[in-house]
Amino acid sequence: MRSAKRSPLSNVPGSVQIDEKILAFLRELPKVELHAHLNGCLNINSIRELAATVYGKETDEFLMLSKRFLTFKKGANLDDCFEKFSFVHDLTASKVGLQRATELVIRDFAKDNVIYLELRTTPKSNANMSRRDYLQTVLECISRARSRYSMKVKLLPSINRGEPVSVSEETVALSVDFCKLYPDIIVGIDFSGNPNKGNFEEFMPALTLARKHGLMLAIHCAEIPNRSEIKQMLMFGMSRCGHGTYLTSADYAYMKQHNIAVECCLTSNIKSGTVESLQYHHIKRLIEAEVPRVLCTDDSGVFDTTLSNEFYLATEAFGLTQTQCIDLTMEAIDHAFASCEEKQNLKIQLDAFISQMTVKDNRVHKTKRYIEKKTCE
Ligand code: 5GP
Repeated sequence: MRSAKRSPLSNVPGSVQIDEKILAFLRELPKVELHAHLNGCLNINSIRELAATVYGKETDEFLMLSKRFLTFKKGANLDDCFEKFSFVHDLTASKVGLQRATELVIRDFAKDNVIYLELRTTPKSNANMSRRDYLQTVLECISRARSRYSMKVKLLPSINRGEPVSVSEETVALSVDFCKLYPDIIVGIDFSGNPNKGNFEEFMPALTLARKHGLMLAIHCAEIPNRSEIKQMLMFGMSRCGHGTYLTSADYAYMKQHNIAVECCLTSNIKSGTVESLQYHHIKRLIEAEVPRVLCTDDSGVFDTTLSNEFYLATEAFGLTQTQCIDLTMEAIDHAFASCEEKQNLKIQLDAFISQMTVKDNRVHKTKRYIEKKTCE
């Protein structure tokens, strides 16, 4: 049944109606989020709650900041998007703000039926906190969240390519250190930040060290058409690729051969102007070329979306069926930085959902992919 409510596709011209049945299915679907930047994932309601903790509800400072956050210029580019983060960074610059923000982000993903979440965040130092304090605070929140939600939450400390290489070395050293205390939470390193800044090559030693210590690498790659950097990144290697917008068909063959999943973030790419419009999004080509790919939100707060919405966009724009949405989730489990046992458990949860759906709706079929059960060695 189509209704005339505001569509998750409202940023796409000509689309104003929602298929409520599909949306309800997608909201119920147990989901896996693999690309979520902590400070980008606070939606406007959570920002208000956070501001209440940090500033008190109606301060002039907050009203000024929230106006800045809500304004999204038409035709914005990546640089404009990066400026937006400073709004939330002001709110998470204290331990209490960072704690509350982490709790709110985890809560909001849980509300959207996300059962496995990999958060990434750049450890920051300021007058209130060192980078160590920052990581400790986030890790403690994630630990506490375990008793509250059935969702598994992992952490990928981020290297911001716009910052000096010495900071990336500190981030990796801290991650390796914290890994001993939280081995099942810190699972990898994210390489992100404004792709127009920094030189990838200079960060390679820090990333190599992380890899040597068993940390997985999720690298923002091919977000802009920088051919020499793309080649360098692919040669260096990664476990997952953030965005992959400007990968060529030869790169696709490489991703396929090395089983590197591309983390696709539809709304993010459109609002930040790296993809012209939804129908031209590279996820279509990735699916056609059978390149591993996962659907993610990136910055659900900044881009005003949810993982359910992102799936909905894919169903509307590319005609993905419910079964294909389940398959994409299964693919995300396969590419998660989780242990074999954790992946088995996630598949069991998804399987239970599918069995229930199969009874209700014969359009959902169990494909071989999710009936298959592998044993952990
Ligand atoms: P944080 O690390 O502060 O928790 O999350 C926000 C940060 O993540 C941004 O300042 C930026 O460094 C990084 N980030 C968020 N979204 C994107 C994106 O789409 N592309 C890249 N390259 N970096 C991003």
